[in-house]
Amino acid sequence: MRKFIIAGNWKLNKTGSEAVELATALKAGMDKISKVDAVICPTFTALVPAAAAIAGSTIGLGAQNMYWEESGAYTGEISTAMLLDAGCQYVIIGHSERRQYFGETNETVNKKVKKALEAGLTPIMCIGETLEEREGNITEKVIKTQVEGGLTGISADDLKKMVIAYEPIWAIGTGKTASPQQAQDVHAFIRGLLVSLYSQGAADAVRIQYGGSMKPSNADELLQQPDIDGGLIGGAALKADMFLALLEIGEKLS
Ligand code: PEP
Repeated sequence: MRKFIIAGNWKLNKTGSEAVELATALKAGMDKISKVDAVICPTFTALVPAAAAIAGSTIGLGAQNMYWEESGAYTGEISTAMLLDAGCQYVIIGHSERRQYFGETNETVNKKVKKALEAGLTPIMCIGETLEEREGNITEKVIKTQVEGGLTGISADDLKKMVIAYEPIWAIGTGKTASPQQAQDVHAFIRGLLVSLYSQGAADAVRIQYGGSMKPSNADELLQQPDIDGGLIGGAALKADMFLALLEIGEKLS
């Protein structure tokens, strides 16, 4: 019922020319993909050349961050209008690396989500627990706080336009993947929360991606879980053959 969305978070990798090379290779492999939404999220400076490289394909473009103000004295920040101008349809918000290294909180995530929605960008709102939190059995409490904080003041209609990425921090870039059951349990918990905050209909409409060392060798089982609607991919998104293989797995399961 929900279309898979598989997004590549390129993080602090790829210059403009390297981004064009990767985006061009992805575009060439898209003829086999019609049932999965594919998205790439390069660095800011690579957005415009990447947009040109994927033009004419169904690949979507996303940024890795944004600011909630439209303009002004905010050195180093980027606005939604600038992202739209660069060709973006999506924006990753509140990635755990932004929370951990750049002080993002549920409050700033909420401001960004609201602004992205107002501007017509699809927010990919990231949530997830640390290893300590999982071992302390407070995963659900942490996720609940992140979901409620990030979605404060968001209407059901806007919720339906969003993507949520569940990324257990202990599985990001570590090679450790949550087992399909561990991931499904948290995804089902998130959807249940959305039912209680909104409605069954709104919760059913939201796509919840899994992120954390997803790669072709483990994607099949993860994507077969009923509440996993795609992936947010780091390392495996930097190689065209791996990212295309992930899209093909999504296509096969659709
Ligand atoms: C990410 O940072 O969004 C991510 C999931 O990274 P990786 O796939 O490398 O674990």
